[in-house]
Amino acid sequence: MRRIGVGAVLVGGLLLATACGSSDGSGTAAGGPTPTTVAGDPCPVEPLRVVVSVNQWGDVVQQLGGECAEVTTIVNGGDIDPHDFEPTPADRVAFEKADLVVVNGLDYDHWAEDAAAQAGGSPAVVNAGEVVGLSSGDNPHIWYGPQQVEQVSAAVTDELKKLEPAAAGYFDTRAALWADQLKPLLDGVAALKATAAGKTYAATESVFDDMATAVGLEDVTPSGYRNAAANESEPAPGDVKAFEDLLRGGTVDVLVYNTQTQGSVPEQLRSVAEGAKVPVVEVTETVPPGQPSFVAWQLAQLKALTEALGR
Ligand SMILES: [Zn+2]
Repeated sequence: MRRIGVGAVLVGGLLLATACGSSDGSGTAAGGPTPTTVAGDPCPVEPLRVVVSVNQWGDVVQQLGGECAEVTTIVNGGDIDPHDFEPTPADRVAFEKADLVVVNGLDYDHWAEDAAAQAGGSPAVVNAGEVVGLSSGDNPHIWYGPQQVEQVSAAVTDELKKLEPAAAGYFDTRAALWADQLKPLLDGVAALKATAAGKTYAATESVFDDMATAVGLEDVTPSGYRNAAANESEPAPGDVKAFEDLLRGGTVDVLVYNTQTQGSVPEQLRSVAEGAKVPVVEVTETVPPGQPSFVAWQLAQLKALTEALGR
């Protein structure tokens, strides 16, 4: 593991920044190995209190904040649907005390936007959807877009530095370390483009669409089904039949299946795909228990997609 020097040293209240905090986008310095974990440099100030609505962003924010952020992730289990979550009184206390709240936005976690707006401590808010320039009605699953993750990460770092300027050097160092961690994912996406070129997918839900787009897969999910799924409504029988016909027709390369979706229709589509020998790629909405990090989770899914496309 490569150790990066402390970005700033606090001496008698004077902050002496060193030059190692630069984040020029190239990620690694001096060709060293990419660290799989991040060194826990000491924070030069009192840590900020940060609340993150969902665990897809929780690890990202923790990596960026390091020891200078006490991160509370509200929806942190694989069996809770963030779309229809209600914060508990304990969750509300966390919002009350927060210096910064990070939400996904795009109507995905409105409960968190509301809780942040109502919090007496008037926390700063980073709204990921707003950061990437999307608006209500757009696909909210933006943590599946590697470039979007980079944009949101930069916005979080900016906000952390604004809230605690005395730790700006520290946060720059963390941003550089995070860029190193993200690099295998960006490399994996780039590598998969050649395999995915000209191939198609259909999906039981829109959750994975941004990643599928990033690797260059074409979405051939029947539009009637796709619209119903996006609105969380029951697809019409004709839409389900169109999907089944598509899977049986032999023109779809993979079925992307969200294992966190409940319901008989996705299960039925899955069994039709299996019967028609269409490979099924399992994805999840949130980071599942057992995955040590955001990047590890994303890489595991990319590996499954790569294997399915190679079949
Ligand atoms: Zn979803």
